[in-house]
Amino acid sequence: MEILNEQVPAPADVGNALIGIRGGSELDLDLRLEAVHEGILVSGTATAQIAGECGRCLDSIEYDYEADIQELFYYEESEEFEDDDDVDQYWVIGDLIDIDPVLRSAVVTALPFQPVCREDCLGLCNECGINLNEDPEHHHEILDPRWAALAQLSDNVAEDAATNKTSDKREEK
Ligand SMILES: [Zn+2]
Ligand SMILES: [Zn+2]
Repeated sequence: MEILNEQVPAPADVGNALIGIRGGSELDLDLRLEAVHEGILVSGTATAQIAGECGRCLDSIEYDYEADIQELFYYEESEEFEDDDDVDQYWVIGDLIDIDPVLRSAVVTALPFQPVCREDCLGLCNECGINLNEDPEHHHEILDPRWAALAQLSDNVAEDAATNKTSDKREEK
């Protein structure tokens, strides 16, 4: 059994448009390599620095993600699972194993599809684009001309009612 405890440069381009492994960052590997009958069993964790932006307010998001790794790398001679085309299979090439694809899939599958800075992020104002998290009370007066016309109409009705009242009084005299 061998313990692999080191930092390696993170693979590039892991992630989607909004979020992924921070470019140029390092992966913290804490892995155990065990020789088993069919190959080498790699287990442990890989910690990656994730960076991205909130899909609602565009604020930056940063956190460390610890991926659990448990993967069997088969010796090339092993043919036990050769007909199993559906399963991703990893191989020991010579004396080497390439854990890059394992890390990729472990991290990518854990990335949020629609990252948010927090669950109840209020996002940006549709009208002016300010960050509503910084001013939750922020809103705009309704400027739609149709509503403005209605407002004026109701004013007129109120005025008419007032005029009618006074004229009624006059008729009574
Ligand atoms: Zn946000
Ligand atoms: Zn606004």
